[in-house]
Formats: sequence, C-alpha cells, structure tokens
Amino acid sequence: MKLGILGGGQLARMMSLSAHAMGIETRCIEPSLGCPAGQLTSVRAYSYDDVSSIEKYFEGVDAITYEFENINLETVRTLSEKFTVRPSVQALEVTSNRIREKNFCKSIGVPVPRFIGASSIKDLISLRVDKLFFPSILKRTSGGYDGKGQWRLNSISDLEPIALAEGNFEVILEDFISFDTEYSCVAVRDVNGKISYYDICENTHESGILKETLSPPRHISASTETMLKDYTKQIMEALNYVGVIAVEYFVKGDAVYFNEFAPRVHNTAHWTIEGAECSQFENHVRACLDLPIGGTRNKGKSFMCNLLGKKGDIKKILAENTAHYHWYGKADVSGRRKVGHVTSVHSTNEEREAALVRMRKLVL
Ligand code: AMP
Repeated sequence: MKLGILGGGQLARMMSLSAHAMGIETRCIEPSLGCPAGQLTSVRAYSYDDVSSIEKYFEGVDAITYEFENINLETVRTLSEKFTVRPSVQALEVTSNRIREKNFCKSIGVPVPRFIGASSIKDLISLRVDKLFFPSILKRTSGGYDGKGQWRLNSISDLEPIALAEGNFEVILEDFISFDTEYSCVAVRDVNGKISYYDICENTHESGILKETLSPPRHISASTETMLKDYTKQIMEALNYVGVIAVEYFVKGDAVYFNEFAPRVHNTAHWTIEGAECSQFENHVRACLDLPIGGTRNKGKSFMCNLLGKKGDIKKILAENTAHYHWYGKADVSGRRKVGHVTSVHSTNEEREAALVRMRKLVL
C-alpha cells in the first residue's frame, strides 16, 4: 500500500516510520529538501500550489493525508477530486481559520471561550469599547503556530502597538482563560465511524510552545474526562472524520473550554509511540488506509518532554533506563524549535513524577 503525505516534517517522518514497519510506502511533499522525512522516505520538493506535479507524484497512492493545517486549501480540494483525502477537506477547512473553527464548535454545542473576530486589528480597535474584553488573547486567524501570531492583552491600549508592528491580517480576540489545567483528547475514528480514544493528555506549554505531556493526567475527574471525550466525539461525528484528531481544551473548575483541534497526529500524543498499545502514528496510517485500528490503551504512566532547540545529552538521557530518545534530524537546531522529544513509561504516578523531575534537567 502507499500513502501520500503533504508535508515532510517530524510528523511525516514518524508517520513514515510506522508505515514502513508495516511495509507501507510513503511519499511526501515538502517545498525544501533536507526535511526530517527526507532522511528516511521519498520526498519531492514541490510547492504546495503545484497541483499537477503533486498529482503525478501521488499517482497510485491509496490515500493522501497531511501533517499541518496551513496548506493551500485549494490544492487539497483539487486533490480530493481524484484521490481519497483523510481527514476530509471539510476538517481542514474548519480548522484552517480560528473564527470558523470556534463558530463550528459553538454550532454543535462544544463550549468555547468568548470571542470576537475582525478583519484586522484596526477594525477591532474601531469597534465599540463595550464589545471588547480584557484580559484577552489576540490571535491571527490562520498561519500561527507554537505561540507565534498571539498576543496577551490587558487593555485596549495594547492593541495599537501590535497593529503598528505587525500590519494587517484577520484576527480573533478571545477571553483569557485562567485555566487550572490544559488537556488534549486524542482519538482515532475509522471509516465505519468507530472511535477509539487514547487516555487524556495533560499538557504544559511555555510561551505557547508545548513543553511536556503526561498521560494519563495527574488528576482528572471522571465527569471532566467524559466531557472531553464527548465533545471530541461530537466534533468527529459532525465532520464524518477519518484518522487521528487532537482536540485541546482548557479546564477551570468544572468548566471546559474548547481551544483548538488539529486534524492530524499531534505533539501531545508522541508518548503513544512507547506508551500505548498502538501509536497515534500507526493508527493514523491504518485509519487513512482503511485498515483495522490498533488498541489505544496505555501501557503505564507516560510522560513526554520536548527537546526545544536543544539536543540534550543522549547518553545521560538514555542512562534513565525507561527513557526513549527521538530525534527529528532537523538541520536548524536553534531558538525554541521542536527538534526531538523524550518519552518514558512508568508503573506509578510517583515513579513518573520523580523521573520527570530528573528528565527536565537533562533536556535543557
Ligand atoms: P494555541 O495556539 O491556540 O493552542 O495557543 C497556544 C497556547 O497559548 C495554549 O496552549 C495556551 O497555553 C495559551 N492560550 C491560548 N489561548 C488561550 C486563552 N484563550 N486563554 C488562556 N491561554 C490561552
């Protein structure tokens, strides 16, 4: 079997590793060669607008998937006329714009933070003052990732400097939620509509970038867990979704707020490679190719730490004998780029907590 992947980053690399283990070929598109997937599978350097080259290269694949949501929607729409694209273009369309995504969730009864959309920051400033709210978070509606294109606001006077420095683009203003915990619910839905859920993931971000994930979470009430899974199910069913989805939520007391969803494999479920019966990568490949879905149960208490712009010392990390080191092979290891991650599975929460404290020092 063959799977076409739009993108050649670490997610395409890890999907390819799972696919190849099953004897499935992957073909990736990434505008620049030397990308993480290029070291172990076939990659062509086409622009995402070059539909005819992509079509030729993907000839004979059984399905096409993608590893990020900022792809040219028109390209994916055209490809879906000739190929099976999973998750569907509709899922990609909803998630490619934050206003559309929040309106969609609201329309199906999934609770979202208060929000208001505007075609530019200037337009937002010109709204009646009583329509704005603070503290809040201003976000680009598309194109932002890992905390880029987001600004924390305390008053209306914070808007003008951002408008001057950043220019014109569509924005969404959201209530700042002083959440207790951030969670994600990662699940996989097959072509027959059967949904399997991984254990809920407890996530810690720093400056908008994921730092670590624990699954199962340290604490989560049964009712919150049910809500997160039910909202995720509502989203998947409304989109007739096929593949892995990751839905991010903020939880404050008993209240749950949807933040965003990723129509793809996700950083908060990298722990599933060693920590679950069948990883998110393998299950996504299986779902896209209409193969039976593997078990999603946890093997123990997992954590995942991202390597952000740092290699860490592989010898010291692996000296923790439960640790697994994952490297993405990026040429540029700078700033806070996601360049790899470490996972570890434990028998008890206490053991996991102690190992996590040690690991935090090693990944710095
Ligand atoms: P996002 O790109 O929307 O996932 O945002 C990245 C991170 O910024 C989130 O994981 C949160 O830690 C934080 N964040 C985003 N939106 C909000 C919000 N409305 N209230 C509080 N924190 C937020």
